[in-house]
Amino acid sequence: MRYVSTRGQAPVRDFSGVLLAGLAEDGGLYVPEAWPSLTHADWRALRGLPYAELAARVVHPFVGNCIPYATLQRLCQEAYAGFDHPAVVPLIQLDHDLFACELFHGPTLAFKDLAMQLLGRLFEHVLAGQDARVTIVGATSGDTGSAAIEAFAGRERIDIVILHPEGRTSEVQRRQMTTVQAANVTNVAVAGSFDDCQDLVKAMFADTPFRQEMSLSAVNSINWARIAAQIPYYVAAALALGAPDREVAFAVPTGNFGNVLAAWAARRMGLPVARLVVGSNRNDILARFLAANDMTVRGVEPSLSPSMDIQVSSNFERLLFELLDREPAATAAAMAAFRAEGHMPVPDYAWRRATTLFSGFTLDDAGTLAEIRRLHAATGTLVDPHAAIGIAAARACPCPGVPTVAMATAHPAKFPDAIQRAIGSRPPLPSRLADLYERTERYHRAPNDLAAIEALVRAAVQRNTA
Ligand SMILES: *Cc1c(COP(=O)(O)O)cnc(C)c1O
Repeated sequence: MRYVSTRGQAPVRDFSGVLLAGLAEDGGLYVPEAWPSLTHADWRALRGLPYAELAARVVHPFVGNCIPYATLQRLCQEAYAGFDHPAVVPLIQLDHDLFACELFHGPTLAFKDLAMQLLGRLFEHVLAGQDARVTIVGATSGDTGSAAIEAFAGRERIDIVILHPEGRTSEVQRRQMTTVQAANVTNVAVAGSFDDCQDLVKAMFADTPFRQEMSLSAVNSINWARIAAQIPYYVAAALALGAPDREVAFAVPTGNFGNVLAAWAARRMGLPVARLVVGSNRNDILARFLAANDMTVRGVEPSLSPSMDIQVSSNFERLLFELLDREPAATAAAMAAFRAEGHMPVPDYAWRRATTLFSGFTLDDAGTLAEIRRLHAATGTLVDPHAAIGIAAARACPCPGVPTVAMATAHPAKFPDAIQRAIGSRPPLPSRLADLYERTERYHRAPNDLAAIEALVRAAVQRNTA
């Protein structure tokens, strides 16, 4: 399997190449040169497999010859062995034709564990084969950092440095990162905002001598391997509800468009998906695009579902590339205009194509709290604000008679304040995190200054390679 950039000016790479590279050199995102396709019989043969086995089979065509199947199978077994539900991604029924797929049974209680736990093992395996090492740097406002740290802690040949904005993550989120004691993990609390942290990471990548000296690598959601590792749970849910003999629909609480893009990819591989509903909070750029071809950036406003407080959904570029018949020049031009003017010019035919499959749905904070309360009263199920938007979006799916699955992307215990406001009491932390507040924290504090951050990264790497 070979990968090309959506902007057409970067080297063609194999799976290992795109795993380690993350972003393409031309600023584009890597996509498969050709999509694998499964037949009706192929889908049927996947029914009833344990999740780790299913994941290995679904991801394998994307890995190609880079990793032998038996090795991939073992890495998937190991990745999902640490989840605290035997089904890994259990499907629960909430109403007639309404289901939730629980994606929060991993070590950091959010869906990002599904991809990160496999990525950590893929990195270690590929680096061993090349006798190489990398330094992963990333910025986080909360969930991504903890999922990455959990996945890469203690792995050989990898240092990981995560920047978070000092005092601006929740205490649960900060402690999930700073209480990991592995020597290869460095947390830095930056005196600044999340955007400052992200700018510092971009500046480190733009500093070519530093980038090469440290062998910088990234595991943010533009890394193709993360998308690939998110396809299997759509397959698992669809098969459980009768696919390939019956269509299903999915509703996905969306930020960077990575999760819902994996659903699109499953459909592109032949899974019978009737509709994809993209759930947004008040930051509703995707809903405005789907309703009226209006992709115009407004300021980011904070909400009860912070992982969706995004205006520029980086993975949308992969869908745009497909909507534009895989024309790299047209994709690059639309992205350049979006960057320059804050408005993406999408041709009418491409927008119409998008709307045949995707619908948008928006829910504000008051609606989110009401949905949490209503669902709790009606079914006893407690959901987090992101999942609540997904469930409300699933109810709004324009797909009568089709079973619809809302992706429950975080555990309610990650957002105790919102839950308290909705139902008047706080959810307990699951047992794996019950002692989180007693654990010792370890992190550096740094000014919002590139030289200071680079010095911290260099010192961490030298400590571990000495
Ligand atoms: C990251 C995240 C999202 C958004 O996912 P994208 O792939 O960025 O669209 C939604 N919910 C939760 C809980 C998240 O952590």
